[in-house]
Amino acid sequence: MKSRILYRLRNLFAHRAMVLMYHRVATPASDVWDIAVAPDRFEQHLQVLRKHYSVIPLQQLTASLRNGSVPNQGVAITFDDGYADNYQIAKPLLEKYELPATFFISSAHINQVKEFWWDELERLLLFTEQLPQQLALQVAGHQLEFNLEQESVLNPELQQRHSHWKASTPPVSLRSSLYLKLYTLLKPLLYLQQQHLLQQLKEWAGVRPDVRTEYKCMTLDQLKDMTSSGLLSVGIHTSTHPALASHTAYVQQKEMEGNKQFLEQTLNTRVTILAYPYGDHNEDSVAIAESLSLEAAFTTEAKLIRKNSHRYRLGRFQVQNWAAKEFSKKLNYWFNIAK
Ligand SMILES: [Zn+2]
Repeated sequence: MKSRILYRLRNLFAHRAMVLMYHRVATPASDVWDIAVAPDRFEQHLQVLRKHYSVIPLQQLTASLRNGSVPNQGVAITFDDGYADNYQIAKPLLEKYELPATFFISSAHINQVKEFWWDELERLLLFTEQLPQQLALQVAGHQLEFNLEQESVLNPELQQRHSHWKASTPPVSLRSSLYLKLYTLLKPLLYLQQQHLLQQLKEWAGVRPDVRTEYKCMTLDQLKDMTSSGLLSVGIHTSTHPALASHTAYVQQKEMEGNKQFLEQTLNTRVTILAYPYGDHNEDSVAIAESLSLEAAFTTEAKLIRKNSHRYRLGRFQVQNWAAKEFSKKLNYWFNIAK
């Protein structure tokens, strides 16, 4: 009992830092994965951070970790994927409050007139007005049969339900249930397989390959301008955003190295920090991160950074669309209660 109390006390006073994970600053029609923070809310977060915390560049945090220490109560801001709203909305706000942030960029999506596969799947299944009732699809050796019954037609009530649904809660319709099934089947596949299946689904649905403006990724010019002021930096997020642990070491190496080279050549700078797509990684991913001499690699596991944290399995905390008060409460809770 006594040693347990001592352990807790030691933990409480040990230096620890926190890395926040954002994806989008936007108000999309739906947000199944809870990854969008409204612009006004994001500004409130920055005000809280500026007033009560010491926000440090991610590189500073990982460099001190390498030297065996952690800036106490330091907070670093990160963004994953490379949505255009990061450039259009997050960048000016970060600059306004002079707060550094690191953007993990999936390079195959830069300059592409294409949505991420999970966004396209969401639009296709949850918001297409009319879908065929029956779906029969071969996915990676798995024969998927699904009947949408009366939900083949999207009525306003169903559309409303979908716009509020979160994938962390049970499906609210047959369409959302089909979305989850397909998401789970597509996630471990290679990019080209995912694109091929999406193409089949689009043909089945009879929809055109439109790209919604608010779901676009950054252009090459926007990416180049991200780091121009020196306040913001970029990190590795692989070329095509695969779930790394589902793939061979060869594929993982190509994905990480290709992305690193692209970013370094495009931005004329060294890029040595990685965030695993979906936080997904295995022993191979860690070994490759080491062989590429990366400084650090981040997962999506909600845990603090301590001086003994494994530098290729560092945690981050996902921020949701909270108002200032709730955001403050979360930060306080994470710093004091979290592992
Ligand atoms: Zn990602």
